[in-house]
Formats: sequence, structure tokens, C-alpha cells
Amino acid sequence: MSEAKNYKKALQHSVFNTITKAAANLELQSYVIGGFVRDHILQRGTAKDIDIVAVGSGIELAKEVSKLLPGNPKVQIFKTYGTAMLKASDIEVEFVGARKESYQENSRNPIVENGTLQDDQNRRDFTINALALDLSEDNFGNISDPFNGLEDLRSKIIRTPLDPDITYSDDPLRMMRAIRFATQLNFKIESTSLEAISKNKDRIKIITKERIVDELNKIMLSEKPSVGFLLLEKTGLLPYILPELVALKGIDEVEGQKHKDNFYHTLEVVDNISENTDDLWLRWAALLHDIGKAPTKRFSKKVGWTFHGHEFVGSKMVFKLFKRLKMPLNDKMKFVQKMVLMSSRPIVIASDVTDSAVRRLVFDAGDYIEELMTLCEADITTKNPKRFKKYHNNFKIVRQKMVEVEERDHIRNFQPPVSGEEIMQTFNIKPSREIGIIKEAIKEAILDGEISNEHDAAYQFMIKKGEELGLKSS
Ligand code: ATP
Ligand code: MG
Repeated sequence: MSEAKNYKKALQHSVFNTITKAAANLELQSYVIGGFVRDHILQRGTAKDIDIVAVGSGIELAKEVSKLLPGNPKVQIFKTYGTAMLKASDIEVEFVGARKESYQENSRNPIVENGTLQDDQNRRDFTINALALDLSEDNFGNISDPFNGLEDLRSKIIRTPLDPDITYSDDPLRMMRAIRFATQLNFKIESTSLEAISKNKDRIKIITKERIVDELNKIMLSEKPSVGFLLLEKTGLLPYILPELVALKGIDEVEGQKHKDNFYHTLEVVDNISENTDDLWLRWAALLHDIGKAPTKRFSKKVGWTFHGHEFVGSKMVFKLFKRLKMPLNDKMKFVQKMVLMSSRPIVIASDVTDSAVRRLVFDAGDYIEELMTLCEADITTKNPKRFKKYHNNFKIVRQKMVEVEERDHIRNFQPPVSGEEIMQTFNIKPSREIGIIKEAIKEAILDGEISNEHDAAYQFMIKKGEELGLKSS
């Protein structure tokens, strides 16, 4: 017998013993495979989902396991895939029969036959995802590692078990997965794999947008998302997915004047913000905050490079981009739009921090003022240490002013201090245009600091404004 390494330690959850018994009852072999094994060895914490391979019927094994578990949890069966799933206390266990796969040109859905464990390992995407632990009583915890996945885990390498050219062409989603794992785990994609991805990039077209976005979001939630975006760019996948970012690449020079490369700048901003927030959508806002700069870029002799209105154009582009990628067109999208639209506001006021500018900023940003400030601070990518310090310091002053103004004027959850009802009663009028005009004037006066945000001051102001409009108070 080979001196197989033993990973019993990974199998302490009681569900594994149950699977061992169930498999013995059915006289078949079973293994835990893939992400669970990989993450145990990498000490990435205990996974909440477990994949089991049965050399035989995965569905039958799942049913038998359910019979042996307290409460006989419901077995969910996915007939088309020949898989079954059940929940054992805190974890989800997925069962599949070992299979052999062969692919056709136009689909990522293979023709499937029953196979051996080795067949099943051959169909796995990466060597580090093909590791399997034996669940039989006699060999409990012994590892099966036909492609030196353990070695690749140690040297931090993403490698396909079989010819990468075929592996990626068969199922192009694997290209996204390779880049996602490289980003999440901080691994290198082995060079023939990287070449194969470049070569097969056009095949990404057969993958649904939802699956691509799933992987993008995992890249986005990694510690350093730029790793993934640089790989997407290098392999040529990025133009298929986010052409808006590709358009930010490059530096133009006219008459000795250059602008910065907004693609690399953007990636820096995303990495920066990821140190301060795990909010997926705020990270998306960072990724997209400058996309309006490509279509608005102009050069003039007088002022050099400008990107006038890029925030507005960018926020419109957010909608189209989300729609194209079949991302949610809900409040998350609106949040990203708002961040893009307002992404320059704190920067503009930072050099001259007046009370009224801060009040307006807080009013317009509403509940998202914190997120907006986090975005603007991440946007500071200057390599000049003096400027770096100065810009951060300016934002500190803005934040301080925000606290002062908020304490005094309570702008954050602004409620009109005089109601429409009161205006109607005071001037003895019916619902009309004038009410809107007066309310707007009160709000403007408060934001400008002309009056304080309280009822009596606003009431006096209302009387004055109403009289200007020819109304008489009763
Ligand atoms: P995570 O759950 O952290 O995303 P994972 O490796 O568990 O990582 P899953 O998508 O849960 O990923 O898939 C489980 C296992 O199934 C993988 O470890 C891999 O062995 C296999 N697998 C998943 N997707 C593919 C694919 N597209 N091609 C080949 N094998 C795959
Ligand atoms: Mg998994």
C-alpha cells in the first residue's frame, strides 16, 4: 500500500460517519472531494458546503444518509444533474455519482456516463479541486491526489488536471474560476493554463451572464480584487465582460500634457476601498466611479485634459452595464449610481470647506454619506507623500465639519420643519404650486445657512416668502 497521507482530522463532523455507514449499507465507495478538502488543507476555516462523490448512485446514497440521520432531513433531488442535496444541522451536503464526461462544441453541458473515482477526478477543473478523502471505514481519511494537487497547494499554483486547452474550451466558465481562485487564494495560474485562457477567451460567450457575475462578485470580495481584474485584462477576457473598464486604459499625450491611466488608477481605488469595507456594492461603486471618463475626455490648449460631467455620464452607464450583465436593477444599482454621481462632490469642497457646502453634501448623500466619504478617501492614489497627506487631511476636515453641522442643523434625515398642511392653513389656500415653492425656499434657506433648521425660524421665513408670492396670512 502507498503511504497515503491521512486527513481524518478534516472529517470530525458527525455527518461523515453517517455517510460511511450509509455507503457500507449500499456497498459502494464514497469520497469527500473538492473545495472542502482544499479549504481544510489551506486552513481557510470550515466550509459550510460539502461535496460527496459516490462510486454508484449519488441520489441513492443521499437517501440512505437521510434515513440514518436524526429527523430524516429532506433530500432535494436534481434529476437533470443526477445530484442530491440535504442539510445536516449546519451544513449542506451535495451528493453526485462518479462520472465520466465528454463535451460538445456549443454547450458547457457534457454528455455524462457513470465512471470511477479517477474518471470523476479527471473532470474536475483544477488539481487543487480534485483532492478526495476516502470515507470507507478501512481507509477513512486517506487522500487521493492523482494530479499532485497537494504540491500545487503548497506552491500556490492553479493547474488543470488535463490539457488546459481542452479543459477551458470544454467549459469556459473554468476560465473565470481560475482567475477567481487565483484572486481569492493569492495563487499563480500556471503559464500553459494562462495561455490556454487567452486562446479560448472567445468561448466565454457561451457562459450565462449570471455565472460570470457570480465569479466577478467573488473576485470583487477578495482581499485584493485588482489581481483578478489584471488577469482578466491580461488574458483578453475583460473586453467581453467590462469593456467600459478597458476604455479607461492608456495615457494620451497632447502638447506635452498627459492624463493618468484611469484603468490602473481604478484598480488601485478598488484595492484601497477593500481595506476599509466588505460591502460588495461600495466596491462596485469604486470599480465604476470613473467609467464616465472615457466618453467625456477632451483636450483644450487652455486647460489641458478634462472629463466634464463624467460623474453624470458614468451614473447613466451604470444602469446599462448592470442591465447588460443581468445584475439586479434595484436599490443596489441605485446606490452604485448615486456613489458614481456624487464621487467628486467631497473632493470639490475639500479645498474650501464651508458650512453650506457641507450641509448640501450631507443632504444630497442622505444615508450614504459615510460610504461616499470612504469612496473619496480610497480615490486618493497620488504617489506624492505630501499631497497624499494633504488630501487625507482635507477629508478629515470635511468629516469634522460634517459632525459639527449635523449636531447643529440635523440635515442628515432632513424633515421639512414646516409642513405643507401648516402652509395651507396659514395662508388659507388649497393644495397648489405655491406650497411647493415655499417648501423648497425653506429648504434652500436652511442649506445656505440663512435660517436654522427649526420650526420658528422656518415659520417666520414662510410668512415672508408667502407675502412675496402675494399670499395673505390669516
Ligand atoms: P467555493 O465553494 O469556495 O466556490 P469550490 O471548489 O467548492 O469553491 P464549487 O463551485 O462549490 O467550488 O464546486 C465544487 C467542486 O466541483 C470544485 O471543487 C470542483 O472540483 C468541481 N467543479 C465546480 N465547478 C466546476 C467546473 N466548472 N468544472 C470542473 N469542475 C468543477
Ligand atoms: Mg463549494
